[in-house]
Amino acid sequence: MNENGNAALFLDLAGTLVRIDESRELPVDARGNIAIDLLPGVAEKLAPMHDHLIFIVTNQSKIKRGRFTMAAFEAAMEDLDRKLGDIVTAWKVCPHDDADNCPCRKPKGGMITELAELYGVDLKSSTMVGDQEIDELAARAAGVGRFVPARDFFGWT
Ligand SMILES: [Mg+2]
Ligand SMILES: [Zn+2]
Repeated sequence: MNENGNAALFLDLAGTLVRIDESRELPVDARGNIAIDLLPGVAEKLAPMHDHLIFIVTNQSKIKRGRFTMAAFEAAMEDLDRKLGDIVTAWKVCPHDDADNCPCRKPKGGMITELAELYGVDLKSSTMVGDQEIDELAARAAGVGRFVPARDFFGWT
């Protein structure tokens, strides 16, 4: 904590917290249900951080493309938070695709800056964890002080 606000942890979702399919996206079945399968070490690493501000920021253009609904995604996030031991402070999803040119889709920083404003986060002292370059770019765009690749943060190496 400092005079500008609290440090927070921003996390990508697919490929960072949960398993992805061949297209590097959340696995979704024929009914549009999303499978939430935690990656190794994720629950163990985050459990002791339950008193931190923990946010998830994720692009899900499958919502735009009709592969699953926002309700299905919300259910998946509830399932995820339950599996993580109720440690998620809040999450933001970008349901758009590139053509929408929205301010939220990573590599833009909109989801991060919006959460920071809502929760009084000091971005400079905060950390972003992700598995792709767009996560690092979004963190930089928002002014997050530190980016850590998911494999390093969760010890997959
Ligand atoms: Mg990812
Ligand atoms: Zn968006």
